[in-house]
Amino acid sequence: MRWSQTLIPTLKETPAEAEIVSHKLLLRAGLIRKLAGGLYTFLPLGLRALRKVEQIVREEMNRAGALELLMPALQPPDIWQQSGRYESARDVLFKVRDRAKKEWLLGPTHEEVITTLVAGEINSYRQMPKNFYQIQTKFRDEIRPRFGLMRAKEFIMKDAYSFDATDEAAQASYRKMYDAYARIFQRCGLKTIAVEADTGVMGGKFSHEFMVPAETGENEVVFCDGCGYAANVEKAQSKVQGPKSTVPGLPIEKFATPGVVTIEALSKAPYNVAADCQIKTLVYMAESKIVLILVRGDDQLNEAKLVSTLGTATLRPAEPEEIFAALGAHPGSLGAVGVTKLPVYADERLRDAADMTTGANTDGFHFRNVAIGWDIQVAHWADLRLVQVGEPCPKCGQPLKVQRAIEVGHVFKLGTKYSKALNALFLDETGKQQPAIMGCYGIGVTRTLQAVIEQSHDDNGIIWPISVAPYTVCITPLSVAPESAVMQRAEQIYADLTARGIDVILDDRADRPGVKFKDSELVGFPIRIGIGERSLAKGEVEVKPRGGALMPVKAEEAVDKVLALIAASVV
Ligand SMILES: [Zn+2]
Repeated sequence: MRWSQTLIPTLKETPAEAEIVSHKLLLRAGLIRKLAGGLYTFLPLGLRALRKVEQIVREEMNRAGALELLMPALQPPDIWQQSGRYESARDVLFKVRDRAKKEWLLGPTHEEVITTLVAGEINSYRQMPKNFYQIQTKFRDEIRPRFGLMRAKEFIMKDAYSFDATDEAAQASYRKMYDAYARIFQRCGLKTIAVEADTGVMGGKFSHEFMVPAETGENEVVFCDGCGYAANVEKAQSKVQGPKSTVPGLPIEKFATPGVVTIEALSKAPYNVAADCQIKTLVYMAESKIVLILVRGDDQLNEAKLVSTLGTATLRPAEPEEIFAALGAHPGSLGAVGVTKLPVYADERLRDAADMTTGANTDGFHFRNVAIGWDIQVAHWADLRLVQVGEPCPKCGQPLKVQRAIEVGHVFKLGTKYSKALNALFLDETGKQQPAIMGCYGIGVTRTLQAVIEQSHDDNGIIWPISVAPYTVCITPLSVAPESAVMQRAEQIYADLTARGIDVILDDRADRPGVKFKDSELVGFPIRIGIGERSLAKGEVEVKPRGGALMPVKAEEAVDKVLALIAASVV
């Protein structure tokens, strides 16, 4: 490709709309342009990089035995009603109407569509395992699209869905996808951490997220340097100490605490009740039922853990008037002593705790000497707390660390939720009808592309790994007069590299060398060949890897040098 014939509208200034470096560089390097919030056009260079990411994904999916197909983006709502997600996913669903006023959905994901397909096409264990994938545009009604391709209303995903007859086979399918994902991100030049993750609205059993460490990431990863344990903060656990006392002592006693409505206030004089000796009582509406949640005074509730414990589609903190109606007191004076009519969920760290202090369900009063099991009846125990930095790793005990990250991929073991709801049933070896065991596996393709830039750049621009660079080599002749020795050499190298299957761009613009070098650094081509009159007079050209030093090379050896650099590259 000749630079003058394509469209690479590089920008000197950083566009005001961009907050993070990868978004700035996508715009400045002329890879994308915004149409409206969360909607972007891929310009020729951006599309070339995107196609390379897609191709890596496709090759690894095929290698793992998955079958490519293509499903409609437009979906009928009834299959979403059947799966129960018409309600639970309503915040992100784009809904459109046709001329007959019938409603349709623009798919954010395709579990319902693929399961409907499989329900009609697969009916025997002999037809499994099967894993179907597609690379397709998805839609999400994002309230606040931001960070360019990171959180957009329209984006490209690779989504795959496995169907198995047995748990063991489903486990093997999951493992294959996990391994394929590790290869995909490695081939894209990305460093990722695979973390244990919460299953959230997908309603699955088990999942991992592939995270790219980055300060600008919207997720938090808890990890351990000692043993490699890593988990999404929503799922992370730690090995923390239990209650200080588990031996009930003095009898429970009500005492006045006028105006005291926080853990902190109660921990000060004249009360002096340490936060870890208090029980925090939280009230939630799970669907339309009130539930009481207990965590230790110094702990924070992790709502994601609560959602997966309750297994409800909707959850929200109860309003003060709902709380007063249920318990007869306002937040700050709440407790579970003597509560028998409402379900009480407690964090494991409170198991058998004695000598605790909690609200008395009378404004301005607390109870002391509270013993769980005696004074408070807990219906359900669960890990409900948010892990803090520095707490001991659940596996090896070393202090846990927290890092921000970008989620680029997610693998779920789904179980039979969708196959049961949408009748994807098959006959097993004994002739018995069973629901297929499913897994689903997503990669944000457009997000992966941006994550590569977020992880690999410097002050001058993008540093593409060869595997996903729009062009591998940029030839930069300092004079572009057609009959000049410089341009003739440039044309020769261009023809030789192109003949060997290398993606080359020839910067044939009649601009100053400084402008051309700056642009080539900004766009981030992995290898640049600079050809100037002075060095060519010595029979040399200058080869410069994007992240490395300039190397004078004999003009006739330039092609071999470039091929050697490409061969030596890890991606
Ligand atoms: Zn550890």
